[in-house]
Amino acid sequence: MDERVATELIERARAETARLAAALARQRDEIVAASEFTSGDDEHDPEGVTIAFERAQVQALLRQAQDDLTALARAAERVLAGVYEVCERCGGPIAEGRLTALPATRICITCANRL
Ligand SMILES: [Zn+2]
Repeated sequence: MDERVATELIERARAETARLAAALARQRDEIVAASEFTSGDDEHDPEGVTIAFERAQVQALLRQAQDDLTALARAAERVLAGVYEVCERCGGPIAEGRLTALPATRICITCANRL
């Protein structure tokens, strides 16, 4: 894969993930703001339980998006180092189709299936 193509692939995924992270952060802030209108007694207020659950879910998705951004930043470094298409586990090539589908991947399909 061409370095320029790889960089574009990663940049596109980064922009998309950054947008997702921003939307999730906004959603979390809205949930936090909304919860200020409830009693704050999670244990006895059924609505409080729902809000706490929603907040935990959004928080988990946000953390995942942030992890993805870190992984994509690392992928960009791998492109610059010339090892983007090299599997970190076996040293074999990572198929172009796999990198297109998963721009942040660091292992080939064979190693992924072994995990
Ligand atoms: Zn491998």
